[in-house]
Amino acid sequence: MSERKARGPVGDGTEPWHGTEGGYTNHRCGCPRCRGVYNEAQAERAAAAGDRPIPEHVDPDSYHAYRYYGSKTPGALAANAARRAAQKARQRASTT
Ligand SMILES: [Zn+2]
Repeated sequence: MSERKARGPVGDGTEPWHGTEGGYTNHRCGCPRCRGVYNEAQAERAAAAGDRPIPEHVDPDSYHAYRYYGSKTPGALAANAARRAAQKARQRASTT
């Protein structure tokens, strides 16, 4: 995996995609306009995730339910914690 770099502005600020989500995701621009729009959209998605019903084929105690449907059951929280711990262990292993 590549290391995550802090994003700075891309271009000279006159490009039409500044201030759009595409500016942040596609053009990898980190100017305040692009970052602001992206952060707002992410917050909206996170808020909407809690309102979506969990489909029957998805285990409500799974990481998938936590991540994509905002499930906050003890099982889902545990699955998320386990996934985070595993991810941290992988990161530690790959940097040493
Ligand atoms: Zn920008």
